[in-house]
Amino acid sequence: MDLSKTGKFIAEKRKNKNYTQSRLAEILGVSEKTISKWECGNGFPDTTLILPLARALDISANELLSAKDLTGEQYRLQAEENLVILKSQQEATNRQMLALEWVVGYLSTLTFLVMIAVGSFLVKPLEWQICLIVFGFLNLFVGAMTAMKIERNVGFYECGHCHHKYIPSFKSFFFSMHMGRTRYMKCPNCGRKSWNKKRSGK
Ligand SMILES: [Zn+2]
Repeated sequence: MDLSKTGKFIAEKRKNKNYTQSRLAEILGVSEKTISKWECGNGFPDTTLILPLARALDISANELLSAKDLTGEQYRLQAEENLVILKSQQEATNRQMLALEWVVGYLSTLTFLVMIAVGSFLVKPLEWQICLIVFGFLNLFVGAMTAMKIERNVGFYECGHCHHKYIPSFKSFFFSMHMGRTRYMKCPNCGRKSWNKKRSGK
């Protein structure tokens, strides 16, 4: 995605509509600075703003993503291409998030072990030992919760029976048995329990 091309396209369409940057910002409920950032090619609208922006500019989301006016066959081909691009961007983000989950998990476990070791053997006054151990556990808890939140939100789970793909509720996710990222959960579609594999795309 060429951000400066998209920026110029947004500016052009905005001027066609006789909107100032501040008027467009008002319509979309964002700051004027945000519009200027997009138009200068220093950013791209959030997924949630793509449709509202396209509508405000009287273009299709497809045209916005392609940064050009599209007609007929061209439109269909470009739509397919954009779908593939968006999908691969999503998958790349998912992979990054899952890598982040490992980092968070390992770091918090490591900090936990160091704090417990230091708290138990090295530091002398009892108050300090208690402090270190309490913070060690707190740190482990926050790390584990963060890692789990990341894991639940990335991609989806696939039922072992009916292959239904879904995102579990935090409760059922939290209390499920797991081996790595595969979790034993009840499928909301067929209602049967099985080991559900994590899928980050496709
Ligand atoms: Zn199922």
